[in-house]
Amino acid sequence: MRRIHWCVLSLLLLIAAPVLALQPEEGEPPQEAETVENETEETEELTDRERAIRILESVPLIDGHNDVPWQYRQRVDNRLAEIDLAEDTTELDPPMHTDLNRLREGRVGGQFWSVYVSPSLEGAEATKAQLEQIDIARRLIASHADLSYVTTADELEEAFEEGHIASLLGMEGGHVLDNSLATLRTFYALGARYMTLTHWQNTDWADAATDDPEHGGLTGFGQAVIEEMNRIGMLVDLSHVAPSTMHDVLDVTETPVIFSHSSAMGVTPHPRNVPDDVLDRLPENGGIVMVTFVPSFVSEAVRQHGANRAAEQARLESLHIGDPEAVEAGMEAWDEDNPTPGATLSDVADHIDYIRDRIGVEYIGIGGDYDGITTVPEGLEDVSTYPDLFAELIRRGYEREELEKIAGQNLLRVFRANEAYKESEQGTTRPLDVRIDDFE
Ligand SMILES: [Zn+2]
Repeated sequence: MRRIHWCVLSLLLLIAAPVLALQPEEGEPPQEAETVENETEETEELTDRERAIRILESVPLIDGHNDVPWQYRQRVDNRLAEIDLAEDTTELDPPMHTDLNRLREGRVGGQFWSVYVSPSLEGAEATKAQLEQIDIARRLIASHADLSYVTTADELEEAFEEGHIASLLGMEGGHVLDNSLATLRTFYALGARYMTLTHWQNTDWADAATDDPEHGGLTGFGQAVIEEMNRIGMLVDLSHVAPSTMHDVLDVTETPVIFSHSSAMGVTPHPRNVPDDVLDRLPENGGIVMVTFVPSFVSEAVRQHGANRAAEQARLESLHIGDPEAVEAGMEAWDEDNPTPGATLSDVADHIDYIRDRIGVEYIGIGGDYDGITTVPEGLEDVSTYPDLFAELIRRGYEREELEKIAGQNLLRVFRANEAYKESEQGTTRPLDVRIDDFE
């Protein structure tokens, strides 16, 4: 009796199983449709660029650094109406790297607009300029429906899903704080989501990569700045700072850091790049290097040429004191004999390869520095060219998942880790009430 029962049951199961397997689970697309889509992808014979575009349409490409707000300040004294990003800005003199059509073409899904302030401004002047930079960036974002002002990782993803370019603010140059944690907190409240600790020059509390060592890294007040940035959820940006500062920050930060626009010193030994011993600490910290396109940072030939040109200029100036025409003529002759070697898209991909091989694909992002540079690599001429870089990575064997991480998922991970830390601190810690003088 029992045996017969089992036989019937098994028979029933045999009949039912294939039928059940064909039923899609709730929320899952029917299997048939999926097969059709896969077939299309295979039979269509997509180019690498088209493949790259498909990836960038599914995951936001988040660029770490674009200097358009500085262009408004430099070119038109922040008169918003005088440059229309909806127009073709290649028509301007000099042409810009960024406008809305080209951002679309480049499949940019998220942009940290740099609200840079020159270190030639000091004290209250720098703080005022910071307010003006935040103001022009926010007015610019508000004036275009394509751009969507966001301040959290969730908002960033939502804006991308709605087809907008998520727009965030990143501050560049810690001198704008005028040594006050109150200004830091207020800039955060106004929307700034990262701060590059220094620009080209040291601040009173951190050494820059391109200035004489002064503090040996971070001072005690500098540590307080990091503690407060962690607490309020402001990403710490280590582009521009000295290796000593990078190490000091990695010793004290509770959250993953970013390099918003830096490349690898192991490929091009420019002081603005990230040295190997700092790269090696990133997996433990969880932070990312947003690889930049600045020609002299990504090509050693360009860097050497720049140094030689500066040396020739200095030599001619000391030979022809008080005779600028002779200097000019000499430089013209030198330029003719020494054409500028160009950096290329391939050079940039080499930096990405290098960081991946050394520490892994989880620690890479993209930070073009468009409109903050005057020359660009061949193949990466403006913001429309990001898909070409991803196409090159596809040719170099990168998997889709790796490219999704480089495009934006790594940045989102870092952003969320900072947000989570901020949340964990809320209610348990108070705003730091220290002054720079307390540390002397
Ligand atoms: Zn910069």
